[in-house]
Amino acid sequence: MTEAVDALVIGAGPAGLMAAEALAAPGRRVVVAEAMPTPARKFLMAGKSGLNLTKDEPFEAFAQRFSVGTGALPAGQRSSDRWRTRRPAPGYLHQGEMAFGPAEVMAWARGLGIALFTGSTGRVFPVGMKASPLLRAWLGRLQTGGVEVRTRWRWIGGGFRFHTPEGLRVIRPRVAVLALGGASWPRLGSDAAWVPWLQAAGVQVAPFRPANMGFRVAWSAPMARHFGAAVKGTALSAGGLVSRGEWIIGRHGIEGGGIYEISAPLRDGAAGHVDLAPDLDHAALAARFAKAKGKLSLGNWLRRVLDDPVKVALLLEWGRPLPDDPDGWAALAKALPLRHEGPMGIETAISSAGGVTWGSLTDDQELRTMPDVFVAGEMLDWEAPTGGYLLTACLGSGLHAGRAAAARLAALGQG
Ligand SMILES: Cc1cc2nc3c(=O)[nH]c(=O)nc-3n(C[C@H](O)[C@H](O)[C@H](O)COP(=O)(O)OP(=O)(O)OC[C@H]3O[C@@H](n4cnc5c(N)ncnc54)[C@H](O)[C@@H]3O)c2cc1C
Repeated sequence: MTEAVDALVIGAGPAGLMAAEALAAPGRRVVVAEAMPTPARKFLMAGKSGLNLTKDEPFEAFAQRFSVGTGALPAGQRSSDRWRTRRPAPGYLHQGEMAFGPAEVMAWARGLGIALFTGSTGRVFPVGMKASPLLRAWLGRLQTGGVEVRTRWRWIGGGFRFHTPEGLRVIRPRVAVLALGGASWPRLGSDAAWVPWLQAAGVQVAPFRPANMGFRVAWSAPMARHFGAAVKGTALSAGGLVSRGEWIIGRHGIEGGGIYEISAPLRDGAAGHVDLAPDLDHAALAARFAKAKGKLSLGNWLRRVLDDPVKVALLLEWGRPLPDDPDGWAALAKALPLRHEGPMGIETAISSAGGVTWGSLTDDQELRTMPDVFVAGEMLDWEAPTGGYLLTACLGSGLHAGRAAAARLAALGQG
């Protein structure tokens, strides 16, 4: 059963749906094949904690947050330097060519009838915070535009062969866009099963690694009373990145937005530190520590100085051997070593680093070894922090690949 279509998109996440939108044209057959029973499950999951669509900031600042080439290291480079590497990439993420950036994402969402607001940090959300109204409107527009979304259609490699509810089906597209996602949260659909199929076709794929994830910590028993506590008013740092965001002490380690901000250098071996009093300089903090301890227990004395039992617990947990003079205490509280046992697994990470390498692609995100096949979204080898960067780049790279595939169709003429 071989079916001919003009354009095939595999993966109905934000990248694939955007590529399909770019490919839709009167009289053109565009089919989106999606393995899961419903489209865009990760996008919907992202909406559960408040859908952060993009970050309202100038292009230069926005582009700086992306790292590309998160796989193999050039000779002589230390792994802790990896995250800094902003090697030129072709396609959507090419420096200076981000044609679909924050302003375009906002206009696109508003065009779907979704009202937006910008939070104090510049993060942009739908007023309703959810992804479902946007997705419903978008799928409706795609359907009107002639795009056919087929769910429970799982690509199994070997050309364009699919397991479907009706059995094995084969599609013969004139152009195809692969938008299969990265490797985090595989139960939502992006399970990276495609890696060996593309490798067999000569495509380089940098190994997937967790991105925007927590870190495992082997806590001592006294920390148990702080499980679930939010740590506020600290500055986390690693590899030159600094995060003032909140984070959470969990039974198995540390998680949350503040940690995610520094997770890439921390994952790659950079030392992490916590400033427990970022709004005080060393001298001011040392003056506080100079107050006589008297008959107070160590814990009570530290609580007086730091005014926060969670910070005291962290200081005692990670600060040993403890200092014995005010300068030493201040130095420790300003740069407490963040002691962890490595990143949490990719199955709970917000996103993934690694994927199809930029060297495998042309400027149009077309696979060099698979002509007429384009690639978009998180399956490409880039990473970025949370904050709307991920969705913006998935939508933008989907549009870039979709437009290039549409141009190819036009160049090929009538089939
Ligand atoms: C809990 C959580 C919260 C998040 N919050 C945010 C946020 O607020 N802001 C933000 O910017 N980003 C957020 N993200 C990240 C964002 O959701 C992803 O980066 C984005 O969804 C990736 O888009 P994609 O289209 O590349 O891949 P995906 O969304 O993963 O879509 C890929 C699709 O391909 C399908 N597929 C895979 N293999 C096959 C196959 N063999 N055959 C057919 N179909 C297949 C999958 O089922 C899936 O539907 C969050 C992620 C998580 C997990």
